[in-house]
Amino acid sequence: MKTSPFRVVPLPTEIADRARRAAQACAADHAVVTADSPIGYPCRHCLRFAKPGERVILFPYESIPAGHPYSETGPIFIHAEPCERYSATHEYPEDLRRGRAFRAYSTSYDMIDAEVANGNEPEAIVEKLLRNPETAFVDARSVTRGCYTFRIQRA
Ligand SMILES: [Zn+2]
Repeated sequence: MKTSPFRVVPLPTEIADRARRAAQACAADHAVVTADSPIGYPCRHCLRFAKPGERVILFPYESIPAGHPYSETGPIFIHAEPCERYSATHEYPEDLRRGRAFRAYSTSYDMIDAEVANGNEPEAIVEKLLRNPETAFVDARSVTRGCYTFRIQRA
């Protein structure tokens, strides 16, 4: 078995649970949306697309913490119903092979490199970005809307 040089880091379950509670409490910044496309609503917790008709919660997530030049909070989806956190963390998530941009960050949260996966080999781009010793982690984002999708760290 090939050992993967990276680990996929899905959204922590406690953040997903907190978002579900906030949505139930009708928090103004937590919207419940019904998916109307099979590839438009990627859940950041199970790293699968919500199926048309499934409900998702749309809320702002701070992927890069405040207090840095590249600080960033932006919209993400999670399934409204509890789902299983993505666990095949040594494998790139199959649903999200296409349409992702990859941003490499340093330990001080500076963006130091970025690439778009044009073909079907996101692993090669991730591994290349991680070969830079300055890279602390890589964030996968939507290439069209820019939304944070998941984080990748060295294994
Ligand atoms: Zn999910």
